[in-house]
Amino acid sequence: MEDLKTHAIVKTHELALKGKNRPWFMRKLTSNLRTATKGSGVERVWQGQLMVGLTLSNEECWPEVKSRLKDVFGVAKFYKAYDLPRDLDGLKARLPQLLEGRSFNSFRITTNRADKRYTMTSEEVNRDLGAFVKDLTGATVSLKYPDISIYVDIQPKGFLVYFDEVKAHGGLPVGVSGKVAVMLSGGIDSPVAAWQMMKRGCQAMFVHFHSYPLVDRTSIEKAVELAQHLTRHQYESNLFLAPLAEIQKKIILSAPPSYRVVLYRRFMVRITEALARRNRAQAIITGESCGQVASQTLENIAVVDQCAGMPILRPLIGTNKEEIVDMATAMGTFPISIQPDQDCCTLFVPKHPETKADLDTVLRLEERLGVDELVRESVENTERRHYASPEAAALVH
Ligand code: ATP
Ligand code: MG
Repeated sequence: MEDLKTHAIVKTHELALKGKNRPWFMRKLTSNLRTATKGSGVERVWQGQLMVGLTLSNEECWPEVKSRLKDVFGVAKFYKAYDLPRDLDGLKARLPQLLEGRSFNSFRITTNRADKRYTMTSEEVNRDLGAFVKDLTGATVSLKYPDISIYVDIQPKGFLVYFDEVKAHGGLPVGVSGKVAVMLSGGIDSPVAAWQMMKRGCQAMFVHFHSYPLVDRTSIEKAVELAQHLTRHQYESNLFLAPLAEIQKKIILSAPPSYRVVLYRRFMVRITEALARRNRAQAIITGESCGQVASQTLENIAVVDQCAGMPILRPLIGTNKEEIVDMATAMGTFPISIQPDQDCCTLFVPKHPETKADLDTVLRLEERLGVDELVRESVENTERRHYASPEAAALVH
């Protein structure tokens, strides 16, 4: 359709749009869409009624724009749309060309009169165009299960006509829900937890603990790759690489093997919280799921939570491993997560760690360690790395 302007029409979930946050939600979505499509051939991003439009410089950009839009949270579905003059007969004259190559036995017309000054109602346009398409193609109208839906948006300056629906993840635009600190291991679960929180509108900062030089740098490399991968959903990320080796050495010398994991965990949480506060994050996120491993029992979760001064959220708590693997595969993080690594948590851990850690015992063990000083040292020695998705980088520089 060389002579017609092509757009992408983005729709959100209506429910998320209720209430006084709607203008802010739409502004954020619009600005995220602008960033996400930078350099993909989008000329203009504009806000319509309950939708955002992206005007393409030409139709060839569509595949790239489509793949970028799928990663933008807050986008429930989107369409490729054509811009026509506001003239129903003109639209009818164009329809054979627009419908070319599509075979269907049933259809439905869905008209939305965004501009209420238009003389015909949506229902009248539906009926009029419906009769025309029926004559043209011999297909029947099916409101419930049509082979194809034809959407007509009556805008002040013209008609937008679109067909194919592309489903995206929905959720909320990243940034509207504040910031969280994700404890990112090199494993399968925590990137999925991060993804889920970003989908609910949270900007994620990532914290990875490593025991270099007690182990090699493989877990760091995986965390870097995962953080970079996840950046496609939020355009800019900070990854904090926090050292745990000194703390682990101290724990090994003074605590019984069965308590090591729970002690590691409490230090990780304290350090994450300190980094979160410095960076204005309001909650800690982990990839834990109930009962998956010894450290993820309700008893141990309670002992870990006890040392935290901000909420620890565990979005995967009720999911099975298979479900998490499916999500990781769909997100594209699974191949990164299964690369072999040397993780700090597997260091000096007994075969049978304590599944019901006792808080008094933990507090007694920590008394000998000088917790505050160890936390402070790790925070001081944390390395920060910054990543931008290629499009965002183009925007910033
Ligand atoms: P994952 O696949 O996310 O590593 P897991 O099933 O292997 O999870 P654990 O290794 O016990 O479970 O870790 C539980 C959670 O603790 C992780 O999901 C992550 O949020 C956090 N965590 C574990 N190790 C690290 C690490 N080295 N750095 C940062 N966070 C970590
Ligand atoms: Mg792990």
